Order: sequence, then C-alpha cells, then structure tokens
Amino acid sequence: MRTRITLACTECKRRNYDTTKDKKAHPERMETKKYCPFCKAHTLHKETK
Ligand SMILES: [Zn+2]
Repeated sequence: MRTRITLACTECKRRNYDTTKDKKAHPERMETKKYCPFCKAHTLHKETK
C-alpha cells in the first residue's frame, strides 16, 4: 500500500513535490535531493504532511 506524501525544500520550506511512498519500506520520513525552482538549485527535500 502506498501513501501520498509531500516533499518540502529544507532551504525555503516550500512544498515542491507530491509523491507516494511505500510506508512499509520507508517508515521514517523520506529525505531526497530534488531541484527546487525557488532556490534554483538541488536541495534536500523532506517528507511533510
Ligand atoms: Zn527551496
């Protein structure tokens, strides 16, 4: 079962991405490097509710 999550940039705190994850495979909050159009750079994005 996959859960819908939102990824927010840790630099500017904006929510840039909506995605899904497997909660059994990733019980912790996901952290991914993604491109932030507001920072205009690849930054660390963290899962948020
Ligand atoms: Zn940003």
